[in-house]
Amino acid sequence: MAEKEQQTSFTYGPVPSRRLGMSLGVDIVPPKICTLDCVYCQLGRTTRSSVERADFVDIDAVLAEIRGKIEAGLKADFITLGGSGEPTLNSRLGDLIDGIRRLTDIPVAILTNGTLLYRADVRAECAKADVVAPSLDAGDAATFEAVNRPNRDITIEKLVWGMEQFRKEYSGQIWLEVFLIAGVNTGAEQVERIKGLIERIRPDKVHLNTAVRPPAEPDVVAVPREVLDRIAQQIGGVCEVIGEAPSGPADRHEMRTEADIVSVLKRRPCTIEDICCGLGIARNEAVKYVSRLQQTGAVISERRGGVAYFHIRPDAP
Ligand code: SF4
Repeated sequence: MAEKEQQTSFTYGPVPSRRLGMSLGVDIVPPKICTLDCVYCQLGRTTRSSVERADFVDIDAVLAEIRGKIEAGLKADFITLGGSGEPTLNSRLGDLIDGIRRLTDIPVAILTNGTLLYRADVRAECAKADVVAPSLDAGDAATFEAVNRPNRDITIEKLVWGMEQFRKEYSGQIWLEVFLIAGVNTGAEQVERIKGLIERIRPDKVHLNTAVRPPAEPDVVAVPREVLDRIAQQIGGVCEVIGEAPSGPADRHEMRTEADIVSVLKRRPCTIEDICCGLGIARNEAVKYVSRLQQTGAVISERRGGVAYFHIRPDAP
């Protein structure tokens, strides 16, 4: 069994989600373990590329936390399993969904990159959810490599085959996300290839997204709304746009958010949850900024009572 992450807070929200309404997020993979290393990832670069499933977190502690939220009057459209990486890497995924079912009728969604759906055990566990939302950002191997930078065991054919198999076995909802990057996977020919793969996968919905939030790589450019609309039309059927281009330059947003976090941490040590609540930002975003500030040495962390607190290094300028 893998060494379990010492994590004391597995849930966040409910937060408004463009795809899922009010969603209680459940984080079941530590940062940042993933089968991919997408150039647009909001969590920054993958630090551990892996296809090995493991028992990363204490499922009983996760369920206890969800039970606490329910007892406190939780109102949510979905309980959404995700993480600071790929949630299907968690080998207790099926047990967790069974446990949630015993606690509540709130539907369960999984946000996954879909790369492990070639495995029968992962398909069986995902089939316990009400909505499975996998990703497909490329129509060919070269674009898949460029956008998703997969683990060497993952190929686009394996990804698509897994989703096709899952569709045959699963009667719940498959909501496929296609993340579009200007000049990379938006050409008519590339979109036609993506469309061909979507026809094989037969999802219930297709959601087009783009770089609304700051991505892992700074040169990832958001696709303008009119181009998203044109691509949605080209794909047709159940395809709709969910991503909206940012209202201002991404770097300004990023500088403001980082400065805000520094300003909060100058006043008192905070947990990631404190930062999310205080600044009204998503957990993913807070983790990314804090990691970046830690790398520069401006912020350090300290554990107290099993909880990680972040604060400004005392001798920082
Ligand atoms: S976007 Fe999702 S699949 Fe891609 S690297 Fe980030 S966590 Fe992994």
